[in-house]
Amino acid sequence: MDRAPGRRELASLLKMEDFSSVYAEADRVRKVNVSDVVYIRSILEFSNHCRRQCRYCGLNCTNRKAKRFRMKPEEIVSTARQAWDAGYKTVVLQSGEDPFYTPQLLGEIVREIKKTGIKITLSCGEMSFEDYSYLKECGADRYLLKQETADPEIYRALHPDSQLEERISCLKNLKKLGYETGSGFMIGLPGQSLETIAADILLIYEIGCDMAGIGPFIPHPDTPLKNSPHGSTELTKRAVALTRILMPEINLPATTALGVLDAEEKNSVFSCGANVVMRKVTPDAYKKLYEIYPADLGETDIYKERRELEEMIHRLGRIPV
Ligand code: SAH
Repeated sequence: MDRAPGRRELASLLKMEDFSSVYAEADRVRKVNVSDVVYIRSILEFSNHCRRQCRYCGLNCTNRKAKRFRMKPEEIVSTARQAWDAGYKTVVLQSGEDPFYTPQLLGEIVREIKKTGIKITLSCGEMSFEDYSYLKECGADRYLLKQETADPEIYRALHPDSQLEERISCLKNLKKLGYETGSGFMIGLPGQSLETIAADILLIYEIGCDMAGIGPFIPHPDTPLKNSPHGSTELTKRAVALTRILMPEINLPATTALGVLDAEEKNSVFSCGANVVMRKVTPDAYKKLYEIYPADLGETDIYKERRELEEMIHRLGRIPV
């Protein structure tokens, strides 16, 4: 695209009856700009304690049914080392917003893991500029903080204790500090329209994000949104495709949530612009407890899963890296 389209224009594209030409264009743009490579990243979910009340998320602090866990720093480091040994070059360390892991403690963990040479993405929520800066000094390479929704009203309704402006200011700080910055949003949040999704795509463009995780909302039975329907997989793929065309070099994961709704869709999103896939390396005992949304998770075998993932990517005619 020679210029950024407007919100209306994007919304009307999202609505098109036959989207196949846009998918084909997204696939072409992906191939020209980021090649056939699919980046494989590991994700380690190290704590499900959270001080926030996000109404869609199973980890929110008002969910009394959630059984909470925290991994010990040594355990986090040793699991990340295993991921490195299995061939992963990147690990995403994700958690709820858990004050137990102070920036100092997180910094120590980052320094220790970095000794292997693995790249570290942190995904631990909102922090001050100073704390992000400190963690960057400790060796963190990337940060993942989804905007969740670009609509201030929907944002307010879903986050009783945080604000969209804060979220956006965190993302801008991360960019300023030189982090490879990932954002993203959910498809199918209550109140969302095609124009909201268009605004979401444009916000990622305006911030200049290096990565965007776009996934369907999945209702969790122990949250206030338990009766809301899940997001559409088709609309998710459309949003991924338009984001690829608008930001040719961005990294776009095939999100886990998409695979939860439909494994086929998760693979087909690779022909709609996606070029990244993440695999959980969280130890089994904790993996089941890290329930952002309900998912049927198998047992973790870091080495076996890594091999299977590479085979799957080969089958799609792409190159695992
Ligand atoms: N505490 C961190 C990590 C949040 S969990 C942070 O604030 O960034 C990671 C992501 O899971 C969220 O950013 C959100 O986009 C997604 N998520 C949470 N609940 C979800 C649900 N019910 N359905 C789909 N995705 C969800």
